[in-house]
Amino acid sequence: MSLQTYPNTVDNRPVTSERSFESKNPATGEAIGLVPHSSAEQVEQAVRAARKAQPAWAARPDAERRALLMKVAEVLHGNAEYLAGWVTREQGKPLGGVGPTEVPGARFELFGCEAWTQVPASLEMPVDVVFEDATRRDEMHRKPFGVIAAIAPWNWPLLIAIWQIVPSLRAGNTVVIKPSEYTSIGTLEMVRLIAEVLPPGVLNTVSGTGEVGGWLVENPDVDKIMFTGSSATGAKIAAAAARNLTPTTIELGGNDAAIVLPDADPKAIAMDLFWGAFLNMGQTCACAKRLYVPDALHDAVVAELKAIAEAMPMGDGAQPGIAMGPIQNRMQFDKVRRLVDEARAGGATIVCGGEPRAGAGNFYPLTLVTDIADGASLVDEEQFGPVLPVIRYRDIDDAIAQANRVDVGLGASVWGTDIEQARAVASRIEAGTVWINQHGAIHPMVPFGGVKGSGWGLEFGIDGLKAVTQPQVISLKKKPQ
Ligand code: NAD
Repeated sequence: MSLQTYPNTVDNRPVTSERSFESKNPATGEAIGLVPHSSAEQVEQAVRAARKAQPAWAARPDAERRALLMKVAEVLHGNAEYLAGWVTREQGKPLGGVGPTEVPGARFELFGCEAWTQVPASLEMPVDVVFEDATRRDEMHRKPFGVIAAIAPWNWPLLIAIWQIVPSLRAGNTVVIKPSEYTSIGTLEMVRLIAEVLPPGVLNTVSGTGEVGGWLVENPDVDKIMFTGSSATGAKIAAAAARNLTPTTIELGGNDAAIVLPDADPKAIAMDLFWGAFLNMGQTCACAKRLYVPDALHDAVVAELKAIAEAMPMGDGAQPGIAMGPIQNRMQFDKVRRLVDEARAGGATIVCGGEPRAGAGNFYPLTLVTDIADGASLVDEEQFGPVLPVIRYRDIDDAIAQANRVDVGLGASVWGTDIEQARAVASRIEAGTVWINQHGAIHPMVPFGGVKGSGWGLEFGIDGLKAVTQPQVISLKKKPQ
């Protein structure tokens, strides 16, 4: 059977390319569709379409843009099952469900897409009067940048695309988005569907490898770049942006520390700690990637996590009852395998997992590693997979110093019963967000972003909306009374 090609959307029209490539199901290795590899000229056409549509889109009353984005939320709702199917087939996370007892999988991702559309569409962004006296009045207005180029990763392909698209559109920008080459079809299909309720040219896609992303970010007609992905690519994007002085929001990798305090209750925290580390098979930017546990609680915490990990059914996420899917791609799979093998060779203990599963698909079991310390590659590098190193500590000052040792700072968490003490520890950690008794608990109203090598700029909430606008001060001299 020949594979279907899923086109890009430019000016609300389907666009295919001379070249295309296969998208593969990471649970089976099967090709599931063809993705166009946009040419340099097609990237230019997409930016031109966005440029042409932008003045009229920005000129619409804010209320109209908000209403259209609420329609986008309805389209996402109405197509949630179809799009969740693509997320599972292409990204690998299980379909799961929505609700506190359900596995947070592809349906949860679609639920997030809807929420992260409704919130930016609902926020008020009034003009700020920053100064006023008898002689003058100074107002801060927020204007769109113009054309936004968005580049997305493969771990939460639809949700992260929505984070980039919706606030940008709300603020009066138009968008060209390039999904990851590993997970393009779901995003291309999502954009095709939501563009139907938007004017032509307002939301466009291009697709392909990093080369295509490079053409997009280097385009001098792009007014702002939103990038989410690895630190290595982030550095390349920042360099490309510098040549045109294009502003950027850069959300990069992390190596989040979770610190369990001596007064924590291992049983009570275990399930939240587990999902904090293993959500989406650990392929989440703000997953706990290093766990620091005091000597006295070490064995109890490890035993609780092991029991949960071993009870999680792993397999093709399209099947019912599956909690954990495959690793999304072979490159990531090989990285996880290397980090665990190096830890083992360095004398660490593999408490559970630790060997790839034979057969089709990128299946690697949930893995806990103990008797490991800072300096091991599994601790110092971002594993971005289903492996958690557990590091003992004696002194909380040491644990904090170790948490802060790395050159990234996306998230972190502190777990304990005395909240004031947990807060005191949280305030000493170098990270964009420090959660207490939860990890990775992002919310559409709460700003999110990294410090140090995890990038710059904020997404979500009113700060996220401001980040896709440029300020303009209107300064008025008053007539003498
Ligand atoms: P990646 O950097 O390999 O790819 C991300 C995107 O950049 C892809 O679309 C890719 O095609 C594109 N790209 C690659 N080279 C490019 C270039 N030279 N110019 C323009 N575009 C280029 O990242 P990934 O492997 O897809 O994602 C995993 C990483 O993303 C992890 O490090 C993870 O922590 C990070 N991440 C961060 C956040 C956050 O909010 N901070 C969220 C999710 C993922």
